[in-house]
Amino acid sequence: MIKKILIANRGEIACRVIKTAKKMGIKTVSIFSDADKNALHVDMADESFYIGASPVNQSYLVMDKILKAIAETGSDAVHPGYGFLSENAEFAKRLADKNITFIGPNAHAITSMGDKITSKKLAINAGVSCVPGHMGLIESADEAIKISKEIGYPVMIKASAGGGGKGMRIAWNDTEAREGYQSSKNEAANSFGDDRIFIEKFIEQPRHIEIQVLGDKHGNVIYLGERECSIQRRNQKVIEEAPSPFLDEKTREAMGLESVALAKEVNYDSAGTVEFIVDKNKNFYFLEMNTRLQVEHPVTELITGIDLVEQMIKSANGDVLSSTQESIELSGWAMESRIYAEDPYRNFLPSIGRLKRYRPPAEGVWGDHAIRNDTGVFEGGEISMYYDPMIAKLCTWGADRDIAIDTMKDALDVFELEGIGHNIPFLQAVYEHDRFVSGDITTAFIPEEYPDGFAGAEISNAYTRRIVAVCALMHDISEHRAADISGALPNHERHVPDLWSVEIGGAKYTADINGEEGLRTISIKDPNGELDTLDMEVLTSWKPGQQLVKAFIDNCKFNFIAKKISEGYKVWHRGCEFKVSVRTPRGAELSEFMLEKTEPDTSNLLLCPMPGVIVSLLVEEGQEIQDGQALAVVEAMKMENTLRAEKQGIVNKVNVKAGDNLAVDDVIMEFKTE
Ligand code: ADP
Ligand code: ADP
Ligand code: MG
Repeated sequence: MIKKILIANRGEIACRVIKTAKKMGIKTVSIFSDADKNALHVDMADESFYIGASPVNQSYLVMDKILKAIAETGSDAVHPGYGFLSENAEFAKRLADKNITFIGPNAHAITSMGDKITSKKLAINAGVSCVPGHMGLIESADEAIKISKEIGYPVMIKASAGGGGKGMRIAWNDTEAREGYQSSKNEAANSFGDDRIFIEKFIEQPRHIEIQVLGDKHGNVIYLGERECSIQRRNQKVIEEAPSPFLDEKTREAMGLESVALAKEVNYDSAGTVEFIVDKNKNFYFLEMNTRLQVEHPVTELITGIDLVEQMIKSANGDVLSSTQESIELSGWAMESRIYAEDPYRNFLPSIGRLKRYRPPAEGVWGDHAIRNDTGVFEGGEISMYYDPMIAKLCTWGADRDIAIDTMKDALDVFELEGIGHNIPFLQAVYEHDRFVSGDITTAFIPEEYPDGFAGAEISNAYTRRIVAVCALMHDISEHRAADISGALPNHERHVPDLWSVEIGGAKYTADINGEEGLRTISIKDPNGELDTLDMEVLTSWKPGQQLVKAFIDNCKFNFIAKKISEGYKVWHRGCEFKVSVRTPRGAELSEFMLEKTEPDTSNLLLCPMPGVIVSLLVEEGQEIQDGQALAVVEAMKMENTLRAEKQGIVNKVNVKAGDNLAVDDVIMEFKTE
């Protein structure tokens, strides 16, 4: 039996693997780079081994260093997680040469499935339906156009070695096919050192649905249902769920059986994922197989009750699968939200820095629902520029899809994050979206529903009035406490009024608080008289200084995040963000005469949105620019981000040059507008 596992990874997935190893009584070794000296995966492992500088090509990707760590710690097995060396056949072979168990599939399966062209050929042999297309290599742009025409537009131009959404272009006509061929080829050469390109039909209005398979070294392979991963941004998954709201039992079984056939074709002997694209008529087509643990594996675990890491360890150890296909039962519904350090209001640009606050919702199981949070970070820790900007994978389980969604909404309501930009408001907006709730989703959901990017969700009247009531009460509690502390006025109640004027999004309400403590009745009036007076029974244990506001309104849970600002609070709830001012009615009258504080005008400046390096400048001083024109490329967190003009103008001055290191809000260039 395996005794000591070295985890050749970092972050949440390293922590995830350690948890199962611990449960199985197996020792663990973590590896770490400079940037990860204080990382959670280092604390959680029994032993840790330093492997060098922060950049991945000097640490987590260097096989020699990892082999040295294995030898010096006496590890007898390696779990590669996902990304990094997880789909690297040479790594698997080098481990086998040293008699170290690789907790993943055999090297032959990795090689055959790692290449999209090879894997499609194998899939066709195994009787798996593939996206119609040209399975050969394409040598020139002219050939790319000829083949695209044969397949019929639209087509998808893809890198055979591609992964992580890179090296892919859609083409709707000859011009786009020519451009797409060149840019896919360049991107593939840069990202994968392999510029082989192929072309397939672009399936319109598709869903991404994938099948989890599990195999052992004795020829057994089973499937564990599907995951729907259609909520994607730039071909990268954001929300995943299991099962899919779209599949029926018959399609599920057909996809499962084809996946098993494909896995058997390469003697698949571990956990793996067969990805399909499914059209509106439930025709499904094989996309690729990922020969590793998938990021979104927790949703499968939540509906099957099977620990996939445990099964991988057992299969690697040579055990026979403990489950048969007939014994697999799918129960309830699970959702996963990928919480990323990125700014949803600024085109999802990566955001890095210290996690000043990190307080996820409590994990647990409560009858018909459950919460699980997989993470590798902690409060006070750093999100560095070197690695994937994922903060956590927040998962919920419910007895049905509605309960899973409601549990997710509640869990996101109380997730406290501060110090970095994050996508929680965007996730909340998606979970509130009618189309998502009805399950009517495709991979085009985000571009269709947020064509101009994300600017925050619209707040409903019902939410507004609840926030008015709770913010008035919070202010009231703070005022009473302030009066108590001063001690100068023993009869302080007389000096703290019961009636408050609350301004939110330009609208003014009054809130009349009845009762001294505990449950209060709060009457909300909207001075425009458009809405009726509303009485709410409000209970909260909130205390000044807390950012998580937990309240009950008419016996229903109502939670949100609020930060004290002058004259009120900044509030975040269900994808909305706004300022709430609470004043006495007299104060509100006087506030009408206050001058609005104006933000400095920065619209004639291009500011660097995140710390990063200038890769290239695309315009020169004196040049006329158009709205939307690409101005500069900044690299941060392994990603190149193109900064674009927000309006027409002339470049007046360029302050930086390629290669410069910039901080947030450094001025890249200045414009002149006519
Ligand atoms: P999943 O299908 O599980 O969502 P992806 O295929 O998007 O995962 O990739 C999983 C992880 O592996 C991501 O962190 C991604 O950045 C990384 N990754 C994927 N392909 C490659 C590759 N060819 N080289 C380096 N990293 C990769
Ligand atoms: P990667 O290795 O980068 O994960 P995939 O081949 O799995 O690449 O494709 C990633 C995503 O791109 C899919 O989840 C899907 O949304 C989209 N996609 C890929 N191929 C097609 C296609 N032929 N038609 C429509 N969408 C596609
Ligand atoms: Mg994929």
